[in-house]
Amino acid sequence: MTITAEILSIGDELVHGALLDTNARWLARVLEEHGAAVARMTVVGDEPAPLQAAMADACARADLVVATGGIGPTLDDRTREVAAAIAGGPLWFDAESWRAIEEYMHARRRPVPASNRTQAMFPPGATVLPNPVGTAPGFRVRLRRAELFALPGVPREMQRMTADQVLPWLAAQSGRQPVAHHCLFVLGPSEALLGERIAAFMHAGREPAVGITASAGLLTIRIVGRAGSAAAATAACEATAAELRPLLDDWCFAEGSGPLHELVGRRLLAAGTTVAFAESCTGGLAAAQLTDLPGISAVFRGGVVAYADAAKTELLGVDPDLIRQHGAVSEPVAAAMALGAARRLQAELAVATTGIAGPGGGSADKPVGTVCFGIARGAASRAYTLRIADLGRAFVRDRAVMEVFAAILRTLAGDGLAR
Ligand code: ATP
Ligand code: MG
Repeated sequence: MTITAEILSIGDELVHGALLDTNARWLARVLEEHGAAVARMTVVGDEPAPLQAAMADACARADLVVATGGIGPTLDDRTREVAAAIAGGPLWFDAESWRAIEEYMHARRRPVPASNRTQAMFPPGATVLPNPVGTAPGFRVRLRRAELFALPGVPREMQRMTADQVLPWLAAQSGRQPVAHHCLFVLGPSEALLGERIAAFMHAGREPAVGITASAGLLTIRIVGRAGSAAAATAACEATAAELRPLLDDWCFAEGSGPLHELVGRRLLAAGTTVAFAESCTGGLAAAQLTDLPGISAVFRGGVVAYADAAKTELLGVDPDLIRQHGAVSEPVAAAMALGAARRLQAELAVATTGIAGPGGGSADKPVGTVCFGIARGAASRAYTLRIADLGRAFVRDRAVMEVFAAILRTLAGDGLAR
C-alpha cells in the first residue's frame, strides 16, 4: 500500500502569476523521496469558495494533503476558516499558541496587533504545529480521507515544518512502503523516439514505474520502485535499469539520482577532479548551476565568460590567428578556450562552449544552434560540434549547458576525451 499525497498551494499571488509556486516543487520532491506517491498539485487563490472546493476535493482523494500559504494574520488568509468549514465546526482559540506568538513578537521588539489573534485560531480537531522560525503556527487535522497539514507559505518556514512535522507523520504510517529512485540520463534521441524504444516499460501500473521527463533537451528516465524493504526497492530499480540499458545504445551518458548538476558536482567531488569553464554562448550558466551546490569550491576553480573575440584571446590565450582562420564558433577555438581555462585557472579538467544561440548570427554552414564544445584534460584536448535544434535562444543555451555536464561525466567515466 502506498500513501497518496496531494499538494495545495494557496495564494492570489500564485494564480495571478506574480509568484512562482516553488513550494509545490520542493514538497513533491521531498514527499516522493520519503515514500509518498504525489498524485496531484493544485494552485488556488484566496477566494473562499474555490479554496474550499479545492481543499475538500484533495482531502477526499488523498491520504496526505500538504497545504501552504494563507495562514497569516490578514483577512485574505483563509486556510484555517476554510478547513473549519469542511470539518463542520467553529474555530477554537489556543491560548498557548497565542502566548507563543506574543513572545515571538516581544523578543523582536515588535508590537502585537490584535489581528495576530486569528493565528491562534484552529479548526475543530486540529493539532497545533509550532513554527520555530516564524509567527504563524501551522496545524494538522483529519479531513475526510486525508491528514491535512496546513503550513505557512514562506518557503523557509514551510520547509522547516515539513521536516519537523510532515515527514515524521509519513514515516509513522504503517503500510508505507520504502521507495527507491534511479535515473538514467539520456542525450541524443527525441523524447518520442526514446518513448517508442522503451514503450514496453511505460504502461501505467508497472512496478517499478518508468517515466520520461524532458528538460532543455535532456531526457531523464525515472525509475521508481516500491517494495517491502529499502534494499528490495533498490534491487527492483536496478533490475529495471539493467533491462533498459541495452535498449539505449550510447544515448545514456550517466545514471544516478538527479538533478544533473548535482550529480556532476558529486562526481567531481568524489573524484577530487578540479574543473574550470570557458563559456562564450552559455554566458556563465554552467558555472551558475554548478555553484548551486554547497561545497563545490573544493573542486570548482572558476569560469571565464569570454564573449568577444578579444576576450577569448586576452583572458584565455586563444591565438587570434586561430579565430581569424576558423571563426570564433569552431572546434579549434573551442579546444583552445578549454586549454586556456585549464591552464589559467589551474584545473585538471576544463570545458568550453562557443556557439550561435540566435536568433541572429546564423549562416548556411553554421546555422543557429551550432555549438562547439572543447574539453581539456591536462595538455590533451578535443572538440566536437552539436547542431542543437533552433527552439529559441534559451533552449540552445540550456541544451549547451546540459552538454557541458554530459561532457564532464563522460570524461570522468574514463572514456578519455572520446565522446
Ligand atoms: P504569512 O504569515 O507570512 O502571511 P502565509 O502562510 O499567510 O504566511 P502567504 O501570505 O500565502 O503565507 O505567503 C507568504 C509569502 O511566502 C509570499 O509572499 C511568498 O513570498 C511566499 N510563498 C507563499 N506561497 C508560496 C509558494 N507556493 N511558493 C513559493 N513561495 C511562496
Ligand atoms: Mg499571508
